[in-house]
Amino acid sequence: MAQMHYDKDASLDPILRKKVAIIGYGSQGHAHALNLKDSGVDVRVGLPATSKSRGKAQRAGLRVVSVAEAAGEADLVMILAPDEKQKKIYETEIAPYISGKTLAFAHGFNIHYGQIRPPDDVDVILIAPKAPGHLVRRLYQEGQGTPALLAVHHDKSGRARVLGLSYARALGATRAGVLDTTFKEETETDLFGEQAVLCGGVTALVQAGYDTLVEGGYQPESAYFECLHELKLIVDMMYEGGISWMRHSISDTAEFGDYTRGERIVGPAARAEMKKILREIQTGHFAREWILENQAGRPVFDKLREQGKQHPIEEVGRKLRATMSWIRDARKDSSETTAAAAAAPSAISVSAPVEVVTSREPKPPVEAVPSREPKPQVEA
Ligand code: NDP
Ligand code: MG
Repeated sequence: MAQMHYDKDASLDPILRKKVAIIGYGSQGHAHALNLKDSGVDVRVGLPATSKSRGKAQRAGLRVVSVAEAAGEADLVMILAPDEKQKKIYETEIAPYISGKTLAFAHGFNIHYGQIRPPDDVDVILIAPKAPGHLVRRLYQEGQGTPALLAVHHDKSGRARVLGLSYARALGATRAGVLDTTFKEETETDLFGEQAVLCGGVTALVQAGYDTLVEGGYQPESAYFECLHELKLIVDMMYEGGISWMRHSISDTAEFGDYTRGERIVGPAARAEMKKILREIQTGHFAREWILENQAGRPVFDKLREQGKQHPIEEVGRKLRATMSWIRDARKDSSETTAAAAAAPSAISVSAPVEVVTSREPKPPVEAVPSREPKPQVEA
């Protein structure tokens, strides 16, 4: 059974005795900084003088200083700047102050692929919430929590895991459950999940279904409701009680269509491609492509982002959603981000060779995610 930790297994004391620097104040940054502050932790936020997030953080009652100042003051430095900028930020503004301290991440990319190489006297840990930052904040405020992964890459002090768990408690993650993992497992499963299933897989499926119906002569609004809107309701049921619970709730007609047609959409060819995508992640091929893309100023990324926005499903959806009041409420942003936040990323410099770091990785203690699901009542 995998090792899970809850509030009763984690003490707040270790993190309350530390000064914490949160570097960045975006999706994850605002959630970590505010949740930790509300848990009583001594938090400062590190941001460049030009950052548009400075005002937001200050208005939320946080002390904002430069990245170097934050790293200099703190005992634990959590890097929540964009992954592709972390190497440069680390080398110029954090490395000079990190000796003897704890360096923390919410995603293992830069450690696992050898972009950031902290010295031997630094504890290196990972606390990775399994949700977008705005949910991490909202659930904490509602008294709930977001599950998170915990990993230790390097434990010089002998107390790295205890401090990581304490941080996870202050973040609200131990309310929902914290799973022990490794940097390797977090990084590779996270990339695979977002590419094959959660982001790449689902959006391609939704768009292909929508296109098929519209090309078949059906109303775009019908196609939108069928292929995108209803997806949430189906996923909510899977989230609550697994696939069986969802199938229990749909009609027998839908269930028969599900069993007999699903495999024709995601069949052997799709499974073979998934294995290929996983291999590209494991070998560092994907990481190299993304690092080079950033070095080149993101030509492919920018083109694809623009193309995605032009898909007809976006326009139809915008009009339909404008009539759904509950959706407007759900989009309230706990970091006060406005639409203007979608500024173009600047060119970055990431030059270290991609190398999958395995040397200091502890043995993965993970066997399987335990099922804490309520048993759905499914009639045969
Ligand atoms: P965002 O893009 O939302 O936010 C990045 C923040 O970093 C912004 O506040 C930005 O400031 C700031 N920043 C930019 N450049 C610098 C710099 N040179 N020095 C200091 N701060 C800087 O990032 P995310 O929250 O999405 O990602 C942060 C980390 O969390 C990543 O490692 C990611 O993989 C991980 N993660 C993200 C999840 C998510 O939900 N998004 C989920 C789990 C993990 P400005 O506003 O001025 O641009
Ligand atoms: Mg993820």
